Amino acid sequence: MRINDWPKSLEAWERAKRSLGGGVSTALRANAKPHPIFFRGGAGATLTDIDGNTYFDYALGWGPNILGHGNAALVHAVQTQIALGATYGSGHALEYEVAERLLALFPGMDRALWSNTGTEANLSALRIARAATGKSHFVKFAGHYHGWSDTMLLGYRGQVLNQQPQPESKGQLVEDSHCVHVLPWGQLEAFNELLASRDDIAAVFLEPVLCNSGVIEPPPGFLEGLRSACDAHGVVLVFDEVITGLRVAPGGATERFGVVPDLIVLAKAIAGGLSLSAVLGKAEFIDMTQQGVTHAGTYNGNPLVLAAASATLDELSKPNTYETFERLAARLASGFRSSFERVGITGAVNQFGSIVQCGLGVVALDSFQAYMETDQQRYDQLLVALLRRGVFALPGGRWYLSTAHDERTIDQTIELFDSALDEIVTL
Ligand code: PMP
Repeated sequence: MRINDWPKSLEAWERAKRSLGGGVSTALRANAKPHPIFFRGGAGATLTDIDGNTYFDYALGWGPNILGHGNAALVHAVQTQIALGATYGSGHALEYEVAERLLALFPGMDRALWSNTGTEANLSALRIARAATGKSHFVKFAGHYHGWSDTMLLGYRGQVLNQQPQPESKGQLVEDSHCVHVLPWGQLEAFNELLASRDDIAAVFLEPVLCNSGVIEPPPGFLEGLRSACDAHGVVLVFDEVITGLRVAPGGATERFGVVPDLIVLAKAIAGGLSLSAVLGKAEFIDMTQQGVTHAGTYNGNPLVLAAASATLDELSKPNTYETFERLAARLASGFRSSFERVGITGAVNQFGSIVQCGLGVVALDSFQAYMETDQQRYDQLLVALLRRGVFALPGGRWYLSTAHDERTIDQTIELFDSALDEIVTL
């Protein structure tokens, strides 16, 4: 099968551009090559577009669809709940039942706060940290993403280290960057030096595995080092597990590395594709919401998304889920590596839990710097060659697996990847 063009998607995009900003619902999608594809539905590990082409889906909604599409238990849970109402604006049992289940998975966490997106939950975590410490500044690391808010959208791309971080978006105030310190990730000395020189740092935010810029594991001892420096200086340690939570282990990177932060931010996979986020934390922090810290939201903790979260937890707790993720993702990664070798293209592949990262033009993908050096233009060509063969993957190089991906899907994908690589070497 080879798809030459996508006439209906192109037409849909032209139409969408008249009613939607850029013809898309989130900015990045407008850059999709050769143009955004419009889908009509999914089933298991596949998606079908409005031109009638079916693809293996490794975008999975940018991560949330950890059960694939149309999972029967998830569909049943959502259908059952919607018949009983979408939101009550008051308490219901799923709020605490799902919180209890999540808290049991993440070591050291006492309480949860529900919200709707990762951006919001990170903002809640920052507000709590500032209130709990009485301090205002915070640290983040270059290449880490914590949502698109004015406060947090700094030091994600194009960051020159050791300089005042610049706003990433037009319309963001330069003033927003005055209390943010963007450090190189993995270098404990830089963090320790900053803490030794300032007493106004409330919190440090990080992706414990740097998923947004290369799926890079923390250097040995780094998370432990952050933990003890935070303890010594009264700084709140926040793990942004929006991607890793439920994806790399039931208890996310916190479980995998055994370092317990003060607050954990969750979103994406926790409700199997519906919009739910959370801040988990030690009681002393979360209980700040009873001591003057505002945490609000019309849709917070609504029964529809929590019914989805409950079904997602049920599905993920079936035997061997995480062993299978690990095995299949490793198989995909090693297939990619063999293809690079066979075709003679320089490339690096990382894998952690159910997440795989491909980078072209670098021999190792072990730092944000290396990620920034990957050949994204060539990768876009590869993505189009894959799309033509029926594989839908994300720009930037990240691949997600779901419980609906099986060995056959992976092996077929490796073959298609191999042939797509052949196509792009001749370009
Ligand atoms: N944190 C991380 C680590 C993320 O990857 C994302 C989304 N890609 C966010 C926060 C923001 O989440 P949302 O898009 O749900 O606001």
